[in-house]
Amino acid sequence: MSELIGAPRGVYDILPEEAEQWQWLESRLKHVIHLAAYREIRVPIFENTDLFKRGVGETTDIVNKEMYTFLDKSDRSITLRPEGTAGVVRAYLSNGMHRLTPPVKLWYFGPMFRYERTQAGRQRQFHQIGIEALGSSGPAIDAEVILIANDCLEAVGIKDCRLELNSIGCTDCRPRYRDLLRQTLEPKLPLLCEDCKERFERNPLRMLDCKVETCQAQFVNLPSTIAELCQPCKEHWDGLLSALEQTGLKPVLNDRLVRGLDYYCRTVFEFITTDKRLGAQSTVCAGGRYDYLIETLGGTRTPAIGWAMGLERVRIISDAPSGSGPSVFAVSCDEKAALSIATRLRREGISCDLDFAPSGKPRGLGKQMEKANKTGARFAVIQGEDELASNTISIKDMKSGEQTRIPAQELVPFFSGKVGTPAN
Ligand SMILES: [Zn+2]
Ligand SMILES: [Zn+2]
Repeated sequence: MSELIGAPRGVYDILPEEAEQWQWLESRLKHVIHLAAYREIRVPIFENTDLFKRGVGETTDIVNKEMYTFLDKSDRSITLRPEGTAGVVRAYLSNGMHRLTPPVKLWYFGPMFRYERTQAGRQRQFHQIGIEALGSSGPAIDAEVILIANDCLEAVGIKDCRLELNSIGCTDCRPRYRDLLRQTLEPKLPLLCEDCKERFERNPLRMLDCKVETCQAQFVNLPSTIAELCQPCKEHWDGLLSALEQTGLKPVLNDRLVRGLDYYCRTVFEFITTDKRLGAQSTVCAGGRYDYLIETLGGTRTPAIGWAMGLERVRIISDAPSGSGPSVFAVSCDEKAALSIATRLRREGISCDLDFAPSGKPRGLGKQMEKANKTGARFAVIQGEDELASNTISIKDMKSGEQTRIPAQELVPFFSGKVGTPAN
């Protein structure tokens, strides 16, 4: 026997039962997103490495430590996408979508790849769904984007979530905040981690993102981003708050929430759950405005905002039901008869399974009924010797145990209205 080949570290298989939960989640989330007229875009899983260096940021952990980058056979540097936005913006520009009437509202779904330390709930191949709205600068679209995230989470049964919201200003007002932050943190610098010391020089906003507890403990009485906003940023912020208020969505204002990269601006937000199944509190959706990114990637300056949601975490705390069995299970002493019944039902949109014996010879009706029971079928349709001889079919309700016999040709009408096609 040959040696088994295992899966690489950090990936996992989504087995049928869980895959059915994924289908349920995906269909609910897509439904909510489609209601707001966002359209799907499917972009490649790998791109030129430079796209992510510029589009995610050369100073980020993602680009520095976590990307799956390799040379292809022609020595081009290729990277498996670590996130969705850069590829969507690249596609928006290379397909001339910037010439469409704005805003261009897009969504995507699929696997992302990051070489991270593996731990519970963190895989090296993971899945995100995200939306991007490109071409509108007003606060109303920020509110729409945030509301869609909220409705997506509600649609899959996630309740214990709070929306944290902040504005990090623009290229006019952020330098002032950055300077203030440097002034406040400079005396504490010796107490901070090496990464923070480096961030202090390059981009002090990113210090606030530091995961080291002793650093976070020093970050008290910091200047507020909101207090330093310029007039246009303040108006945008007030507009967003009042738009959200009108819909009844109550954000928690958190002026520590930042996106430390230069092309992010104004609105940043996260949906954070306290659901114990994810351990400590955990971000399930994060997003923000990125008005300078499209320019960074070679387009003209275009306002844009979006979010991404990690589906591994969402699945764990959602109401996703595990899959149900077929509506009907066909049982017969003659495999061909069972297959013929199944085919008639399937062609009418009624799901039906039957027993395929490992030996190739039909098993006894009792064994087949056991199988019907195990699959969770709602009804069993039985054609034994008796039924075959009289051209009839017995139907057993697997819940009540009640059994009735009908003429064979009434099979399909019998089920109309009793069972439907599965929701997916
Ligand atoms: Zn500003
Ligand atoms: Zn630190």
